[in-house]
Amino acid sequence: MSSEKPYEHDPMTSVFSPVRDAWLAFRHSSNAAMILDLDSPTWTVLEINDAFQEATLQNREHLIGKGLFEIFQENDETSRDYGYIEIAHALEAATAGQRMVLPLQRYDIPDPETAGAFVERYWQLTSSPVWNAAGEVVALLHEAQDVTVRERSMAEQSRHSAAADEQNRRLAAQAEELQRASRELQERKKEAETQRERAENILETMADAQYVLDSEFRFVSLNTAMARAVNLSREQLIGQSLWKLFPGIGDTERYYREAAAGTAAHFVHEYSDGRLTISAEVDVYPSTGGGVAVFWRDITARVDAEARLRESETQLRTMVDALPTLAWTARADGYIDWYNEQWYIYTGSRREDMEGWGWQSVHDPARLSAVMAEWTRCIDSGAKFEMTFPLLGGDGKFRPFLTRVAPLHNADGAVVRWFGTNTNIEHEHAARRLAEEANESKTTFLATMSHELRTPLNAIGGYLDLLLMELRGPLNDMQRTDLERIRRSHQRLSGLINDVLHFAKIDSGHTAFEITSVDIGAAIRQVEEVVSLQCTAKDLACDFELPQSRILVSADGDRLGQILLNLLTNAVKYTPPGGSIVTTCDTINGDAVVRIADTGDGIAEAQLQTIFDPFVQVGRRLNAPGEGVGLGLSISRALAEGMNGSLSVESQVGKGSVFTLTLPLAQSSR
Ligand code: ADP
Repeated sequence: MSSEKPYEHDPMTSVFSPVRDAWLAFRHSSNAAMILDLDSPTWTVLEINDAFQEATLQNREHLIGKGLFEIFQENDETSRDYGYIEIAHALEAATAGQRMVLPLQRYDIPDPETAGAFVERYWQLTSSPVWNAAGEVVALLHEAQDVTVRERSMAEQSRHSAAADEQNRRLAAQAEELQRASRELQERKKEAETQRERAENILETMADAQYVLDSEFRFVSLNTAMARAVNLSREQLIGQSLWKLFPGIGDTERYYREAAAGTAAHFVHEYSDGRLTISAEVDVYPSTGGGVAVFWRDITARVDAEARLRESETQLRTMVDALPTLAWTARADGYIDWYNEQWYIYTGSRREDMEGWGWQSVHDPARLSAVMAEWTRCIDSGAKFEMTFPLLGGDGKFRPFLTRVAPLHNADGAVVRWFGTNTNIEHEHAARRLAEEANESKTTFLATMSHELRTPLNAIGGYLDLLLMELRGPLNDMQRTDLERIRRSHQRLSGLINDVLHFAKIDSGHTAFEITSVDIGAAIRQVEEVVSLQCTAKDLACDFELPQSRILVSADGDRLGQILLNLLTNAVKYTPPGGSIVTTCDTINGDAVVRIADTGDGIAEAQLQTIFDPFVQVGRRLNAPGEGVGLGLSISRALAEGMNGSLSVESQVGKGSVFTLTLPLAQSSR
């Protein structure tokens, strides 16, 4: 590639004469080289060598005499990497006598094949001073060594090393993965080991006996519970045949064989060694190598408990069967699942007819819906059931039964069962009817008697009046006094007879009430007039605290007056002189409430309720006339209740009593 043609301009004669070899070296250097003038910043090209021509693909003639930077052509790719400043700097340094190397500069050369295209090239540039004999820098030697191949191979290398890195990374990752896998495997092994240990521990600590047999049904392993259960040591068991050691369980062999063949078996077995009997629940599972794993639970206690329970249940049922009462049990939903013997005896029914809801067939159809409604309400709410209704006997007769059903709750309070009894109250009914009849005849007797007594008494009264009016002639003082006494007794007697008659009438339900709207305040004030006089006479403070507005009650005016008079008269009667009586009237919850409070003797707790019974008087003195017969309060309460009201008392001995009369407010007052 070197040109043999001699250089036309031979600077050697003027500049390089002493170093002919240097010149030759310049010309034949494989590095592109040029000699530059010192005329910064143009750096005129004085000479180039063949390698430069080859490298730049330009003719020597085109280059000589041009400025260095003129001969470098612009290229889009390299304009940024042109390196002008570095090159100028290196040339300046060389001008100053210093050799300078720029190790890597990119300068692409025009592509000889395609016009306008460039070929990528990398260069190492060296700028060196050229000295004359006098030691002065006279020119610059600018060499460009093509390092494209090196650069490429380095890039390639770095690409390769990146690939190698990648490869290494992959290998490292694989190694790590392998390590991790092996660690995991180790851990799994450990885990399996601990699981096995744990399983063994569990088996060991289990109360249930556990053992493993090989295909010949010889003991391979067993837990302590097993050794304890059969009272033999591990050494005595391992390797021994199950059948030989425990011939008593021979009848369960088929389960073991089934399990050995692959089908797990479960059975309950009673084992007896002559001394004691053990009930066991046994699970046999197939094990490795044709053997079996066995779990063996001692359920003797449970079996015994169940037997005892059955026994006590039988006892209980026998007892309940013996009861004269009909009895039964039902599930929480009301389904009757058991009746005692007596039920079947009375109803003449059969078990299969009665089960569940069959009992309806022995009820009175007219009452059944009410019974069902109440029973359903109790099942839904869990409330106790109590009702009286007739039940049909096997003899075709209905008899009254008092039925009580109590719920049995579990720990959470939910109903689990119902216990029912039906008690025949036919006799009680009959007795009550008899008592009612007796009471009725008593009342009739009283009514008749008082009526019969009243007739002659009226006659006595009439004749007394005749005598006192002196229509039968004049009376002397003594006669008059006597007649007055007779008259007071007569009045008291007719009062008592009136009370008895009155009571008899109320008791027999013969009292008619004439209910209207009554001003209760006005009624109290009417009685007040009578009572005030009695209070003054007995030195009692008498207070009436009545509301300003009218309170209308729904009542019979005369009966109301009678009650008030009775209560207030009692208060006066049973309060010693110096005491006080306070009467108030209020409305509470749609009722008028009258309270009569006194500071009298009071009534002992035991007597509080009985004073409302007829003919009851506390500390009754038979020889104390003029104190009534103990009918006032019973008549008053009967009257109050007859008007849909009530009469009650609160009292403390020595402190006083409060009688409370309640009557419904009239519709207009509500
Ligand atoms: P009696 O005709 O005896 O008054 P009552 O039926 O009116 O009959 O009263 C029954 C009994 O109640 C009385 O005998 C008396 O012992 C007791 N009693 C009634 N009211 C009072 C009262 N305000 N204070 C104390 N005891 C009373």
